[in-house]
Amino acid sequence: MKNKYLHIITIGCQMNIYDSEQMAIRLKASGYKSVPFPEDAGLIIVNTCAIREKAEQKVFSLLGRLARLKKKKPELIIGVAGCVAQQEGRALLKRAPCLDLVFGTHAVSRLPAMIERIERQGGRMVETGMPDQKKLLEPDIQYDQNPNISKFVTIMQGCENFCTYCVVPYVRGREVSRKPESIIREIKKLLEFGVREVTLLGQNVNSYGNKEGFSSFPELLSSINQLKGLQRIRFTTSHPKDLSDDLINCFANLDKLCNHIHLPVQSGSNRILRRMHRKYTRENYLKKIDKLRKVCPDIAISTDLIAGFPGESESDFEDTLELMKQVEYDSIFAFKYSDRPNATAAGFNDKISDNEKLARLQRLLKLQEYFSGRKNSALTGSIQTVLVEGLSKKQDSGVQPDPNNNVQWTGRTATNKIVNFFHADDREFAGLSIADRIYAGKLVDVKIEKILLHSLQGQECRFKGGGTGYVA
Ligand code: SAM
Ligand code: SF4
Repeated sequence: MKNKYLHIITIGCQMNIYDSEQMAIRLKASGYKSVPFPEDAGLIIVNTCAIREKAEQKVFSLLGRLARLKKKKPELIIGVAGCVAQQEGRALLKRAPCLDLVFGTHAVSRLPAMIERIERQGGRMVETGMPDQKKLLEPDIQYDQNPNISKFVTIMQGCENFCTYCVVPYVRGREVSRKPESIIREIKKLLEFGVREVTLLGQNVNSYGNKEGFSSFPELLSSINQLKGLQRIRFTTSHPKDLSDDLINCFANLDKLCNHIHLPVQSGSNRILRRMHRKYTRENYLKKIDKLRKVCPDIAISTDLIAGFPGESESDFEDTLELMKQVEYDSIFAFKYSDRPNATAAGFNDKISDNEKLARLQRLLKLQEYFSGRKNSALTGSIQTVLVEGLSKKQDSGVQPDPNNNVQWTGRTATNKIVNFFHADDREFAGLSIADRIYAGKLVDVKIEKILLHSLQGQECRFKGGGTGYVA
């Protein structure tokens, strides 16, 4: 009998996480059950990322390991999905003889049919066309497992900004937005399954619906804000050039919208921003940051930065450090520039050496460490409202709580900081099973006691909504 166990390995961004979930839902309908270990699977799919060279290298070393597995188990079907599949197409079959299937970013809905054909006839397949994108955007919302408290919802695909360093428009195609009704339907379904927080995904959510003439992004947010049972809304990513006053005002007017924005600046130098084709200046960007802070004084702001873009001089780089000091970000994602196929900057001839890129990256991270540490330390002793996501990883792995039988929970603040915390007095619950004590999905107040490198630690004070209502 055919092994109908599925293992998906996801590399890359939130959109890939969303797409992998869609693959699992669709394959479930053809009898595939997800398993945690690749060794047990009859079908393995690697959902790939091509955004940086490093992510792509990871795919090839992983395929090397999977080839060894296939040697032991020749009937194993291996597929590669996502951006590397879209970029490389048929060439991937040549480079990785263990592969049975290569399918691109617009072929997820056809996955069950492709697998069925390989099962029936054998052979190898490539499916990397970009047909009628509008049709393919509709997700399958047959969620059947207990989804997490917080879920991603893709509201648009593709991008047409063509930043000169970026591969996305080539591998994800042109920008297409989903209909607002379809997004709302999906979120309502998620709420039925216990989801309490959604993060709306798009490469540039600020231009949502522009091409199609649907409602604007602020209007979409406002409709989602009215959904009963939803506690929190987040979104990513916002392109600074399209961040409108209407969207900024949403942070003041929509009670469920979390006070956090990810606003990638990439560089603090106007010369480099021009070469990147970002279409805003450092001054416009800073103006928008001011507006955001006026409307929502405690908003957390994070960003993406690229170190060593071609032609970046020491003085351009110092402009970036200076901008970081002006903004005082809560957190940053910083990357060494890498050439990507088709991206214009790959053809620029004033490349920065790898050593210099690395040195600049480390300088960015070091400076940010100072600001993150300072911002987080200021929270010591404060009370933060946390949306509980579940038991912290230690408990998830089945490890028993500490000698007092305290279990540690995990969740996030509205500003997107991870908080691990103990219940105010777990001994009160000592006779109950961990499952009985679960209050994932509830909002709780936590007193912050300790600041760690990537998270905060604290003690719960009280439930804020629903549940059994323990009050410290
Ligand atoms: N659409 C988003 C935007 O415009 O900010 C982000 C897209 S991309 C998935 C995430 C981040 O990867 C970018 O913000 C950029 O900092 C980084 N990135 C993209 N291409 C890169 C490259 N060639 N080298 C280094 N970093 C890159
Ligand atoms: Fe890439 Fe620029 Fe589009 Fe973001 S906005 S996905 S960085 S091209």
